[in-house]
Amino acid sequence: MELRLYDTLSRDKRTFAPLDAKDVRMYVCGPTVYDFAHIGNARPVIVFDVLFRLLRHLYGEAHVKYVRNITDVDDKINDRAARDFPGLPLNEAIRKVTEQTGGQFHADVDALGALRPSVEPRATEHIVEMREIIERLIKGGFAYAAEDHVLFSPQAMNAANSDLPRYGALSNRSLDEMVAGARVDVAPYKKGNTDFVLWKPSKPGEPSWPSPAGIKAEGRPGWHIECSAMAWKHLGEHFDIHGGGIDLVFPHHENEVAQTCCAFHRERMANYWMHNGFLQVESEKMSKSLGNFITIHELLKDWPGEVLRLNMLKTHYRSPIDWTMKSLEESARTLDDWYRVAADVEPGAPAASVVEPLLDDLNTSLAIAALHSLRGSDVPALAGSLRLLGFLSESAAQWEGRKQQASGVDAGEVERLISERTAARARKDFGESDRIRDLLAGMGVAIKDSKDGTTWEVAR
Ligand code: AMP
Ligand code: ZN
Repeated sequence: MELRLYDTLSRDKRTFAPLDAKDVRMYVCGPTVYDFAHIGNARPVIVFDVLFRLLRHLYGEAHVKYVRNITDVDDKINDRAARDFPGLPLNEAIRKVTEQTGGQFHADVDALGALRPSVEPRATEHIVEMREIIERLIKGGFAYAAEDHVLFSPQAMNAANSDLPRYGALSNRSLDEMVAGARVDVAPYKKGNTDFVLWKPSKPGEPSWPSPAGIKAEGRPGWHIECSAMAWKHLGEHFDIHGGGIDLVFPHHENEVAQTCCAFHRERMANYWMHNGFLQVESEKMSKSLGNFITIHELLKDWPGEVLRLNMLKTHYRSPIDWTMKSLEESARTLDDWYRVAADVEPGAPAASVVEPLLDDLNTSLAIAALHSLRGSDVPALAGSLRLLGFLSESAAQWEGRKQQASGVDAGEVERLISERTAARARKDFGESDRIRDLLAGMGVAIKDSKDGTTWEVAR
């Protein structure tokens, strides 16, 4: 069985062959830590976690290296720090913001059942590598210093007579059109209107580091160079998979390719570029102004993380998702059922009917359809397949207990009412027994009678 992945660059689905089968290497752009992550940010986290798990299943746990960065230097971080901690020196305030937000991000994605990546590099710990790449780009004639900035010239890249990729190839744009369509109010120090920033001067009080290119003033990196530097440090000049949301294709990933390929004279940076589609909420684009901006943190108050995970995976990763309450409720009911039948069962090997669609460019919606069929035919395979996908991290009792807790149902009180009802039924007082059943239903508790007695659960 072979794995096939869709590559944004070649725009086709190809058989995946790692550069080195003992060391499969994947990089995914991580969060900029200035605020709670929203449910859209959870999509790449969950999608690439499934891919990470699948690769580990295929190549062995010790043979897959997954790098997801943390961007901890950014204007948005500076603004938030100044706003939230006005009394502190900016650098201290920034540290507080990045520590708090980074910690919250981990708590959120752990709850979604995402494994921690092999390495989570921070941008501020890779300034040396960024300077090195910038120096190489200047030496190669792809970048230049001007007014304390260093800029990359896509036109110099495309004029170079070599095996370099064409700037614009990843995002399928032509540089000539970009030049023609560029804004007119381009910064005066730019030679070309599509030139982008590799390094820029810091304002007083902002985080700053010694600059490359002989620039005297201290400065800070642009966003794109961070990922080129971290990917290089942890995965090398050329690696297997690079992922992120579809919004990152241009300019972020186009610029990463340009920087890395020009610095190291490479034809490719990653062999497979994978991008998840966008998530919208109840058919609307999620935005702060529309007031439909949902954080993972808020959702986790109402739903177990695995419900959010299942809800995300019901849609193929390249399609857009419409995130709705109705679909969440359905996902919760499905998981309640799977926990009841499979959580305490000794898991078997994951079923071929689940693994095969995953091998076809991570077709999780087909894999989930296969899980539904297994429920009636092979429960150990259902249990093993669910675990492969990152579900069933709890026992059936823990799951039910959490549901009860979240609903505010007092289990002792429920048990007491059920014994009263059993006694009423024994003395054939069906009026009283029905009254108690209705009372329980009012509390959100569903009961089921069988020959072995009465069981109950919190109804969703
Ligand atoms: P950011 O912190 O905005 O750079 O985003 C972190 C990751 O979340 C990137 O991979 C984005 O592409 C992804 N992302 C942001 N918003 C959405 C969304 N609404 N749907 C899917 N992915 C998103
Ligand atoms: Zn990135």
